[in-house]
Amino acid sequence: MTVAAKVAGVELLDYDEVVARYEPVLGLEVHVELSTATKMFCGCPTAFGAEPNTQVCPVCLGLPGSLPVLNQAAVESAIRIGLALNCEIAPWCRFARKNYFYPDMPKNYQISQYDEPIAVNGYLDVPLPDGTSWRVGIERAHMEEDTGKLTHLGSDTGRIEGATTSLIDYNRSGVPLIEIVTKPIEGTGAKAPQIARAYVTALRDLLRALGVSDVRMDQGSMRCDANVSLKPIGTTEFGIRTETKNVNSLKSVEVAVRYEMQRQGAVLASGDRVIQETRHFHEAGYTSPGRTKETAQDYRYFPEPDLEPIAPSTELVDRLRQTIPELPWLRRKRIQQEWGLSDEVMRDLVNAGAVDLVIATVEHGAPSDAARAWWGNFLVQKANEARVELDELPISPKQVAAVIALVEQGKLSNKLARQVVEGVLAGEGEPEQVMNARGLAVVRDDALIQAAVDEALAANPDIVEKIRGGKVQAAGAIVGAVMKATKGQADAARVRELVLSACGQN
Ligand code: ADP
Ligand code: MG
Ligand code: ZN
Repeated sequence: MTVAAKVAGVELLDYDEVVARYEPVLGLEVHVELSTATKMFCGCPTAFGAEPNTQVCPVCLGLPGSLPVLNQAAVESAIRIGLALNCEIAPWCRFARKNYFYPDMPKNYQISQYDEPIAVNGYLDVPLPDGTSWRVGIERAHMEEDTGKLTHLGSDTGRIEGATTSLIDYNRSGVPLIEIVTKPIEGTGAKAPQIARAYVTALRDLLRALGVSDVRMDQGSMRCDANVSLKPIGTTEFGIRTETKNVNSLKSVEVAVRYEMQRQGAVLASGDRVIQETRHFHEAGYTSPGRTKETAQDYRYFPEPDLEPIAPSTELVDRLRQTIPELPWLRRKRIQQEWGLSDEVMRDLVNAGAVDLVIATVEHGAPSDAARAWWGNFLVQKANEARVELDELPISPKQVAAVIALVEQGKLSNKLARQVVEGVLAGEGEPEQVMNARGLAVVRDDALIQAAVDEALAANPDIVEKIRGGKVQAAGAIVGAVMKATKGQADAARVRELVLSACGQN
């Protein structure tokens, strides 16, 4: 066997050899935090980033005698996700208690769904970078509650091993989660890592289009566990899998799958057995052993007695079905054609996270090229400077459309418009307010402009001579001086007219 490399002392089989000898099987479990205003079973807020343990109550702290109350908005989000994934929606289902001890979960059980998930048996047609698509089967999507967040101090890894202090924040405890589990993904061969990444990307885009989650992998509102196994080519029985937990970026999904394929390939090729276990993902690009996997029996699941079963009516499901948007990648393709954009321009917009913002700006009346230019250039730059996502900038598509309208009406030059946008970003109000408050509007008052022109002409007699003599290009210098004197607020075309006519050239 060809050992490609040793990473952290572990042998990896050359990737080509892995796929020549083995067929990978994948299973992806994605957890998404729903962006409901309140938690799954209580009225506590779910906003990210609050002071620790300020968004808690007896229910989400698991205090004795407290009772859960189901969040209807979370159920509707779960149903919409199920529908968007072409699942069957269970006409009747229940929550279950998953019993285990961990300090991030004060009740000592998690309210989850087990054998009665709300959505089952769907699929997602995942677009691949080469333009083809791959159908990923969806086994189920179920509801559960998130746990609190532990922060371990004093160890190099941030993990509990070797930590001297552990801090607990229960703000996240009880935040609604949906877990989406694929059927085994087979037959991908060498494309397995790429397909895993494409699936999570597509799922993220779909959930964002549904508006059910902010799907920030970096903030943990979307997390992926990647199950990987290998079987000798030509055999049917699945190999033993590992489950790499909490992979927290799209790139990492690809890296984790590829690494596990190479690691397991080396294990199998040397005649050993893969150990069924969970594994940790490391940003440096490898996985390490976690715990050997519990079985369902260890959790002593039983139906949650404190919550009524859920029985969504067909009317509700039909109403929610009407709210399922066009698949985001099909929508992008359609928009690209409508706007006549090249693949390259479109890719830049997609990568900048600008597509939906541009579309919304156009819906507020802006021409698509202007909307594209604002979001794709100036605002992308502002987002980079502020180190936030484009859609987190404190300016809305409606406001950008209003700025564009002011430019179109000739009230702002592009340069002045950028200052107006800066004012909006700084929280100074609506575009028109900023324009007025900052005194940025283009000056149309001929008397004012004429005075500035006269001044500039008087200060530059030699240039005036040239213009009078027929060198019309020289007018640019005077126009420039007037624009400077008026801080860019004069209408440059009008200034030019006045300069030329003063020098007898019109
Ligand atoms: P667990 O509770 O152990 O996480 P789940 O059923 O929730 O199990 O998820 C297991 C995931 O792994 C599913 O996506 C499933 O399709 C997939 N899977 C099951 N068996 C294998 C296997 N041998 N190799 C790879 N993936 C598998
Ligand atoms: Mg699981
Ligand atoms: Zn609470």
